[in-house]
Amino acid sequence: MAGMTADMLDCIAEVLVRAKHAVVFTGAGISAESGIPTFRGKDGLWEKYNAEEVASIEGFMRNPQAFWEFARELIVKRKAEPNPAHYAIAELERLGIVKAVITQNIDMLHQKAGSEEVIELHGSLSRVECLECGMIYAWEEVEKKLEFTVPRCECGSNYLKPAIVFFGEALPAEAMRKAVEHASLCDVFIVVGSSLVVYPAAYLPFMAKDAGARLILINAEPTHVDEHFDHVVHGKAGEVLPEVVKRLNKFLSP
Ligand SMILES: [Zn+2]
Repeated sequence: MAGMTADMLDCIAEVLVRAKHAVVFTGAGISAESGIPTFRGKDGLWEKYNAEEVASIEGFMRNPQAFWEFARELIVKRKAEPNPAHYAIAELERLGIVKAVITQNIDMLHQKAGSEEVIELHGSLSRVECLECGMIYAWEEVEKKLEFTVPRCECGSNYLKPAIVFFGEALPAEAMRKAVEHASLCDVFIVVGSSLVVYPAAYLPFMAKDAGARLILINAEPTHVDEHFDHVVHGKAGEVLPEVVKRLNKFLSP
């Protein structure tokens, strides 16, 4: 466990024990530990696919089939299981320490692990909506059709759009409102598995810091903003977070 010392973990556990309103922000790094292919970076899906073609709203309106061919890759996300990092975050919520999880991931692994207050900034692979007639389908239903063909709505339309945010679309307003509210209310803001380059990941922690929160970063690699964080651990979230919870439980038990 490189970059991780016992002192560091004790220190983070202590900060969390005292927290009244901790918020967790998660990016692709936490899902990668569940074996989910990431979009960006080396071996990411955007090395294989043209994001502009398959995942922008303009691309989708031009050719919805291109998205659904690409969607076969997303099915992996639906089948993945939470890893120890997801369970540790859910445990922190049960202990009353974490009040919300803000995530950029669309795989619903936080909910699968038991987190209740999950704010999905990029939507999720839960539903699919027909842009022509407004019919809503469960993702599973559409996925079944995908085995044989490109799915179509019963109305005949090809414009079946999943409830995820495409490039060129605004983030869901209600999710953003909640994220900003938690960032400005929290006393501890923990970033897990994000290199903090994409909006709004790039600014939510700083909003929290301006409001007086302590910043914790748990990420596999150094980021360009490490120096702004009060506590930085470079390591696997699935190893770091369970260790933090273990230490924290020691502080909590009499
Ligand atoms: Zn329709």
